[in-house]
Amino acid sequence: MKHNEKNANVIAVANQKGGVGKTTTAINLGAALSIAEKRVLLIDFDPQANTTTGLGFDKHDVEREIYGVLNSNYSLGDAIIRTELRYLDLIPSSRNLAKFEFEIAEDERSYMFLKDILKEVYENYDFILIDSPPSLGLLTINALCAADSVLIPIQAEYYALEGLTDLMNTVERIKESFNPDLKINGIVLTMYDERTNLSKQVEQEVREYFKTKVYSSVIPRNVRLSEAPSYGMPIQLYDIKSSGSKAYMKLAKEILKA
Ligand code: ATP
Ligand code: MG
Repeated sequence: MKHNEKNANVIAVANQKGGVGKTTTAINLGAALSIAEKRVLLIDFDPQANTTTGLGFDKHDVEREIYGVLNSNYSLGDAIIRTELRYLDLIPSSRNLAKFEFEIAEDERSYMFLKDILKEVYENYDFILIDSPPSLGLLTINALCAADSVLIPIQAEYYALEGLTDLMNTVERIKESFNPDLKINGIVLTMYDERTNLSKQVEQEVREYFKTKVYSSVIPRNVRLSEAPSYGMPIQLYDIKSSGSKAYMKLAKEILKA
């Protein structure tokens, strides 16, 4: 088999705002796509390593991790771990990843580290989902340079749109200089509470502003989604009938149709 043939659709899940549902979306959208028999690789690209722990792995005790791959200690393929879902694989992370930003000078080459290492596995996956940290630093920039598109979770709350201009400017800058084909694809509203007017107002505002870029699937606030990581399971294994599970399955369908 030839290497480097571009198969995988690479999606960076990004928003420099903390706690908006990036990790929850990466895990559960990844799981939903894998249940649809798409081969999915989840890359935990956050030193907090919540994707790693959320899938039941101990971030203090990972044998191989994304940092070691970036450091050329071993290949990406050798750091892949299988999950309980047949088509869902993970590259774990740990606090070590925080060193990357300090060890690597911010030159243009340092933006391409992740893209360069992903090439090895392009043909083995249909989707590569990158969970990024809550900052616009080198890690998120690497994720945006490696991606075909960026998926932006927005929490349906009062300050939802705050900081989005910075994110959009970063996306534009990366498009102009490093990754001209990068698409915003798209925006997903998270922690939506249909009983509140606030959620509805935020939804209206986000849809007016971003129009067709906003997915029609909306992720509800659902306690089962917040419980699942402590059991190390994606929502589909923890509670398939929950509203959160249904919402992520619907989002996956929407993405597969696009
Ligand atoms: P960070 O910026 O720190 O990486 P994040 O953007 O990855 O955060 P998450 O970790 O996915 O955000 O979510 C933040 C918190 O909100 C977590 O405790 C998570 O379990 C909870 N949460 C996320 N989405 C939902 C939801 N739809 N319903 C209920 N709780 C949710
Ligand atoms: Mg996170």
